[in-house]
Amino acid sequence: MPRPSLKEACTKIVATVGPACDTPEKLAQLINAGVDIFRVNTAHGTREQHEQVVADIRTASEACGFPAGILLDLAGPKIRLGRLAQDPYQCEVGSQVSFIRGKNSDAANEFTSTYERLIDELDEGDRVMLADGTVALKVDKATEDRADCTVIAGGSIRSRQGINLPGVKLSVSAMLPKDIDNAIWGAGRGIDFISLSFVRSAADVEKLRQLLDEHESRALVIAKIEKPEALEQLDAIVDATDGVMVARGDLGVEIDVAETPIAQKRIIRVCKEKMKPVIVATQMLESMHYSARPTRAEVSDVANAILDGTDACMLSGETAIGDHPVAAVETMNRIMLCTEREMSRHPTDGGSTTNRVHPITSAVTRAATEIAESIRAKLIVIGTRSGNTAWVKSQSRSRIPTLGASESIETLRRMNLLWGIKPLRAKQLDDTSAFIDEMSRWGRRYANLQPGDHIVFVTGTGVIDKAHNLVVVHTVA
Ligand code: PEP
Repeated sequence: MPRPSLKEACTKIVATVGPACDTPEKLAQLINAGVDIFRVNTAHGTREQHEQVVADIRTASEACGFPAGILLDLAGPKIRLGRLAQDPYQCEVGSQVSFIRGKNSDAANEFTSTYERLIDELDEGDRVMLADGTVALKVDKATEDRADCTVIAGGSIRSRQGINLPGVKLSVSAMLPKDIDNAIWGAGRGIDFISLSFVRSAADVEKLRQLLDEHESRALVIAKIEKPEALEQLDAIVDATDGVMVARGDLGVEIDVAETPIAQKRIIRVCKEKMKPVIVATQMLESMHYSARPTRAEVSDVANAILDGTDACMLSGETAIGDHPVAAVETMNRIMLCTEREMSRHPTDGGSTTNRVHPITSAVTRAATEIAESIRAKLIVIGTRSGNTAWVKSQSRSRIPTLGASESIETLRRMNLLWGIKPLRAKQLDDTSAFIDEMSRWGRRYANLQPGDHIVFVTGTGVIDKAHNLVVVHTVA
């Protein structure tokens, strides 16, 4: 079935690209299975590889006739182990290990890191987590040249693995030179979303936005919430950003993993209050790396994220390096469809307000949604140049299928993060009656609309600058 289709899930799917889906053909299969946005993770791969992936996504989008979005994920100030003298190294509980200055060490139990000031910023009693939180160290003594630690949870570690320092306030800057370079590159490639890892404050988000503005990029900024400091500053960060990712991988190491479900619910709630889209990420269908079927717990996890109100769910290793990338996307899609069917039929408004659109646009879009609900319209069509009006409709969570129709390919790609909005290229928006004709023809041809079915249009007369002030109820002839 060609996309967009009115039978698609409303919740969006973000899929990470990697060796398991690194050709235009494989990417096209993922789009046809339901992927809306591809994540390019700059923590892995070279510039040449990223160039190729972006070109391949564009080719696949063209082939499918669907404008998939691209999210460029900046690694941010992630601290990593240096090269280990013995790789892998087994950390035994109760044994002594140390962090030393420099790039290399000769002793198996002496580690270096990619963060030069690590030794200066560690204090007695601090915890250091390695290997995704499986290995834990406690700092016993911190001196000028080294931090001596005891292993309190054992396991195997490898060179270059991430280091997490829960509760340690680091002075590392929000973006490393490599992030700045990647962001500038993304700005030049028309990337749709740029996410920043390890955000700690609204200022971190503003720095990235300023950089993108300087390079004339319209990319939407996504703040990854994965530090306790970000949870403390959540309201200000959500105010500053265009969207949020609940990055549960690092979050589950930086805070007690038992607290992550409640943190997820809180982040989603704040995003909904402030009308910002949110992506829930990491280990959603983890077992599908190797298995064609998910566990019951994973299915519940995806369903619960949708019930919490997320706009999108993300697949990481499942599509990047897994054995079943297409099955993982199809499975996620099925869970979304089943869950959404049971969600409340009553659209929510939540009383949220935004200054992102003209107050008339907000009022008219909400009224149009209400009209569509009360006459049981089969379709809502939002004519939009920037995507902002579609964004207001998305927040209502009305399940009436909605087209975000735009002349701009950039806007179509960005609307992929909006819950329930299906992006569709429109020939032109200015001539209202031609626009209504064009969309109605699409509805009859691809959405099986029948004579007597209602379509509600939200558009503008052009009389009020930058506002949508027109609702048209059209009945299919
Ligand atoms: C995460 O930590 O959950 C995440 C999405 O970030 P990354 O994949 O960069 O670790």
